[in-house]
Amino acid sequence: IYETSDKNLLIQHFKDDATAFNNQKKASIEGKGVLNNRISEHILTSLSHCGIKTHFIKRINMREQIIKKAEIFPIEFIVRNIATGSLTKRLGITEGTQLDQPLLEYCYKNDDLGDPLISKEHIFNFGWATKEEIKIIDKMTKRINDFLIGLFRGVGIKLIDFKIEFGKAWNKEKGETEIVLADEISPDTCRLWDLKTEKKMDKDRFRKDLGNIIEGYQEVARRLGIM
Ligand code: 5GP
Repeated sequence: IYETSDKNLLIQHFKDDATAFNNQKKASIEGKGVLNNRISEHILTSLSHCGIKTHFIKRINMREQIIKKAEIFPIEFIVRNIATGSLTKRLGITEGTQLDQPLLEYCYKNDDLGDPLISKEHIFNFGWATKEEIKIIDKMTKRINDFLIGLFRGVGIKLIDFKIEFGKAWNKEKGETEIVLADEISPDTCRLWDLKTEKKMDKDRFRKDLGNIIEGYQEVARRLGIM
């Protein structure tokens, strides 16, 4: 993230660096940043067309976009449609179980602690967001999930789960701050499986050493009509 001459705007630069397991696994995946920049632009723009406020302003080159400066809530909002990953490990739920309804989880954004799972009570108790803010974010998160399920299903991809972040940004027209979807939505932050074969097209290819990482990301971009 870089500052600009406008105090309310930032430049978000997408690197090729990949990390997993709380930075224990690191690599550089050539071309990943370029793909994530394009994919996140496409998804956030589509979301804004259906009324979700986001930090995204415009993409300025292959690796960078202008975003609104936002005060990020120290919370990762995780939505799950199918059980996998840490949910199956934590609770012994069978891998691949279709959840009756989307499951929303909150994690405290803190690398030193390994982004631990928290409850709403933790959020309110420690002042990480207010009840009113979480009510708004929960509603936005459900709408984002509904929209993304449809967007990906239309191109033969199952949205298994994803992580999103929110912040408070200045709205110039309204003259007040508002809650916006921030960070990025890309194969780095979602689990995306082919609808028919269940082939993984996301960061799990890196986490699990499945190979062909960039090919997976390219396939997502190609199906979304970006490439
Ligand atoms: P899990 O909790 O099963 O490891 O992850 C659930 C979902 O959230 C997955 O789609 C995963 O990619 C995403 N996710 C969770 N934590 C992080 C994180 O710290 N960084 C990124 N990029 N994605 C995350």
